[in-house]
Amino acid sequence: MTAEHPGADSADLPLPDSADLPGPDSEAEWARAVKILGAATEICLACHVRPDGDALGSMLAVAHALRARGAAGREPARVVASFGDRPFEIPRILRFLPGTDLLVPPDAFPERPQVMVTFDAASADRLGLLQASASAADELIVLDHHASNTGFGSVNLIDQAAAATAVLAFDLIGRLGVDISRDIALGLYAGLVTDTGSFRYSNTSARVHELAVLLLRTGIEPGVVAHELWDRSPFGFLALLGAALGRARLEPAAASGHGLVWTTVTQDDRAAHGLPFEVAESVIDVVRRTDEADVSVVLKEDDEGCWQVSARSKGAVDVGRACVALGGGGHRLAAGFTARGTAAEVITTLRNQLATGARSVHGE
Ligand code: 5GP
Ligand code: MN
Repeated sequence: MTAEHPGADSADLPLPDSADLPGPDSEAEWARAVKILGAATEICLACHVRPDGDALGSMLAVAHALRARGAAGREPARVVASFGDRPFEIPRILRFLPGTDLLVPPDAFPERPQVMVTFDAASADRLGLLQASASAADELIVLDHHASNTGFGSVNLIDQAAAATAVLAFDLIGRLGVDISRDIALGLYAGLVTDTGSFRYSNTSARVHELAVLLLRTGIEPGVVAHELWDRSPFGFLALLGAALGRARLEPAAASGHGLVWTTVTQDDRAAHGLPFEVAESVIDVVRRTDEADVSVVLKEDDEGCWQVSARSKGAVDVGRACVALGGGGHRLAAGFTARGTAAEVITTLRNQLATGARSVHGE
């Protein structure tokens, strides 16, 4: 294995997860994507709203690759990248990623793109303000790994066996024949560690570690990435975490007896310390440690007063199904949805859904 990206025609790269894409036409889909991207004069990239490391990291990695392809003397395409949030704010923990200067706010995004590529978005509504551009695009390439993906593209590169969208982005970059630079590697690595919980979750595979090796050989520093992603919070976060953990509830009988632990992070919690919404994102990582509950949930109140709900399962319950039933999406073990109402109403709806829809995911 070398640090260089072997490119599209190399034989010694470990097989990409995308080789496992369901359906007989996956190779044809990849070929179509490469052809469309090769012919385009303008390529518009979008990831899901409130991007995480996988969404933004994958998108920026592909943006760098498309730029490099132009620099290599091939057909240069104008590259635009964005996500559909208003206000348009790059999450603080992701500002270390190279290429955030490539981002434009959603109102500078073409209304009718020639070619649009989406990253880590399971459905068109996850694009927020950029949903209309996706509907109007001549070609819409969807790169994603969510089981709940609706296949809303004209080309769908969807592999739920992939640990992260970053794995698929790596494959796409390889198929475009672009070497993995340090900047590309940083984006992909951020995606990989975000979605595998730093190689701890059950989606961590030999393939994931093989990809990490390729990325690390470009010289990126895993300690720096981990520090930026998880070890930096304003002091006020400690008080917010204390408040959220202090009001956590354990319901052993919920989720068909598998147990539910849940809490809230309110606007008031954040306002007390002038904290942005994104600081609430990591609370679930502490709540989910609760041994007595298979399911953990954090209701995060955003600036509009909506609840952004994060749900996690340890394996007995399919939270993805429950969240999809409530208008959200995600994976079996990590999912979410958006809801209005009081926290009590929202958790009641979810509790009912977990009771009716709970199903073992072991052995599936
Ligand atoms: P998180 O809890 O980390 O925000 O999200 C966990 C998983 O659920 C991610 O795959 C994310 O894309 C998905 N997810 C979270 N919130 C929503 C939502 O409101 N709608 C949809 N469709 N998916 C969501
Ligand atoms: Mn992802």
